[in-house]
Amino acid sequence: MSSNGGTTSPGDEDLVRIASLTRQRAYAPYSQYRVGAAIRTRRGKVTAGANVENASYGLTVCAERNAVFQAVNAGEKGFEVIAVVADDLPRPCGACLQVLTEFCEPELRVILASAAGAREVARLADLLPRPFKLEQRD
Ligand SMILES: [Zn+2]
Repeated sequence: MSSNGGTTSPGDEDLVRIASLTRQRAYAPYSQYRVGAAIRTRRGKVTAGANVENASYGLTVCAERNAVFQAVNAGEKGFEVIAVVADDLPRPCGACLQVLTEFCEPELRVILASAAGAREVARLADLLPRPFKLEQRD
């Protein structure tokens, strides 16, 4: 059920359900790899996103980043957990882990879920232990 020291909490399955529903809106005509993500703040606000591909592959944006960027644009921060859903257990890419590091504590719980019901829970710091950092100047 969990790995890397992560544990499940009440509400996790609700978050996975929202990520799964959002996954239906993925735009993935090239890879057919559909992913949904839903991130929740400590206050309980949930924002979701799906992957959006582009014919120029490098412009594709993952579900995790779409969810985080929408939340940040809505003024949200203080994230405590993100759920990511795909056909098989998804592995967030390095770009998404770096973006999560920008806005989340190393203890952020990352729920990895397959459409068939498999689950893993990890901490952000386990998935990206030594992220790139710059000193903020504001
Ligand atoms: Zn990614």
